[in-house]
Amino acid sequence: MSLAFDEYGRPFIIIKEGEAKGRLKGLEAQKANILAAKARRTLHARRGAAVCNILKTSLGPKGMDKMLQSPDGDMTSSGAVRVGATILEQMKVEHQIGKLLVELSKSQDDEIGDGTTGVVVLAGALLEKAEALLDRGIHPMRVAEGFDRACAIAVEHLASISDTFSYSLDNTEALVEIVNRAHRKMGQIAVDAVMAVADFERKDVNLDLIKMDGKVGGSLEDTTLVRGIVIDKDMAHPQMPKDLKDVKLCVLTCPFEPPKPKTKHKLELESVAAFEEMQAKEKDYFTQMIRQARALSATPRDAGANLVICQWGFDDEANHLLMQNELPAIRWVGGVELELIAIATDARIVPRFAELTADKLGSAGHVHEEAFGTTKDRMIVIEGCPNSRAVTVFCRGGNRMVLDEAKRSLHDAICVVRNLIRDNRIVYGGGASEIACSLKVSEAADQVGTIEQYAMRAFADALEQTPCALAENSGLQPIETVASVKADQVSSGRSYLGIDCNQAGTNDMKEQKVFETLIGKQQQLMLATQVVRMILKIDDVIEPAAFNG
Ligand code: ADP
Repeated sequence: MSLAFDEYGRPFIIIKEGEAKGRLKGLEAQKANILAAKARRTLHARRGAAVCNILKTSLGPKGMDKMLQSPDGDMTSSGAVRVGATILEQMKVEHQIGKLLVELSKSQDDEIGDGTTGVVVLAGALLEKAEALLDRGIHPMRVAEGFDRACAIAVEHLASISDTFSYSLDNTEALVEIVNRAHRKMGQIAVDAVMAVADFERKDVNLDLIKMDGKVGGSLEDTTLVRGIVIDKDMAHPQMPKDLKDVKLCVLTCPFEPPKPKTKHKLELESVAAFEEMQAKEKDYFTQMIRQARALSATPRDAGANLVICQWGFDDEANHLLMQNELPAIRWVGGVELELIAIATDARIVPRFAELTADKLGSAGHVHEEAFGTTKDRMIVIEGCPNSRAVTVFCRGGNRMVLDEAKRSLHDAICVVRNLIRDNRIVYGGGASEIACSLKVSEAADQVGTIEQYAMRAFADALEQTPCALAENSGLQPIETVASVKADQVSSGRSYLGIDCNQAGTNDMKEQKVFETLIGKQQQLMLATQVVRMILKIDDVIEPAAFNG
């Protein structure tokens, strides 16, 4: 069973044909069969809520880390993966309902890139409420309809309480400020990366143009944004120039070195002179190749190649000759990187040296060797490529965990900036918008004369679970704190009052600059509601035959 989305973004469940074959057998089957469909639904809701509850304590700035163990026994602290989608993914969720929730979190991640824990916490709260309603004998479809109605009201209310967030291209300070929750420099990098590739006319950002790369070593501070491609290599010879302008480069997938006698043939040299002669010939031959590459030119005025990028290595002699003939070269460049370079610089990959012609050269404004931060590692940076606006965020960190965490938080920050470019409306975080919606929904519920009223009220209660969890995770009394913020919101009419997780002395989230994008928050509510609706509709889970032994 898996979750998929149709062209309107509505989720639906796919059950693979093969999976429908076996049912639970033995004791499990008897138990399962004794339970009526209704009871099974309650069970699904309970199981779902249980999975969600695991994430509840991770929500918010003071959320707890989880210790995760991978199948091969490796331990990671979820500090490095403190995002719902990742935690759920690594957790071995046994049952199908749990798997649906994992996918829920992933789809929030794909669409919005943020709020992945929040969406699961809300789904869990809704499932818990649904379970209670089912127990009271309310039909699952009525529950689902009530939730849908409530969700529509909440989504609309979010838009009405949203503020617009203003930024301009020359003044991105405001953007940096909001995404730098963790780290000022990371915020700056995220904003710069998005600004470099954003399409302001279409109000969109193609995230494929931002390549996240990283290497263990150095410190977080050494993380940089490169407007081009970074390859983890250095110039083949230490005396080759390390800073090249107006580069014309050839990309070779063939060896670039003096001809070697084939091993199949035996070469017998009878005198030192003969050996020296052969060496001289080899040298001449290769020097000739180098000259050939350098002399390639489409028009008499522009020069030939002044950089060789090669998939193969050069032996010491070839390397020396390259250096002597002033043709810098980079060796052992991987296939994927070669392709990336070829695309960005407009070069054609050359598989045989004889095929190298002027029109196959690529160009780049600036190629230079860089030392990243405080480490001795050197990398090649290729910038000013004609064919690509792509940028690379190059992360550094003392160990893999720090590095992964940095990548993850940069990814989140990049997503927030992207979302703000798509739509610059925001709502306030720290549970403020959930409390505002909860108030609105329960007000609306009072006007409903049918059974859906109960489901709507339950939805309003479920919304309060987010601020409750935030308060609890920050060491505050959850119920008291939420009740008092709620009362403050009602009496002042300010929908931006939330939970003061960091004990900053005010629950004004506007002042604390804690906000989330409107589309992100709306998406959270809608996805959670839709998944709960689907779970309520399932009255039987048919396990794949393979697992029934
Ligand atoms: P997610 O994966 O859902 O983004 P997080 O652990 O990042 O989960 O928690 C996000 C929640 O924490 C949101 O509800 C957000 O409003 C809230 N939050 C973040 N920072 C603060 C803060 N400084 N004060 C209060 N609430 C905060």
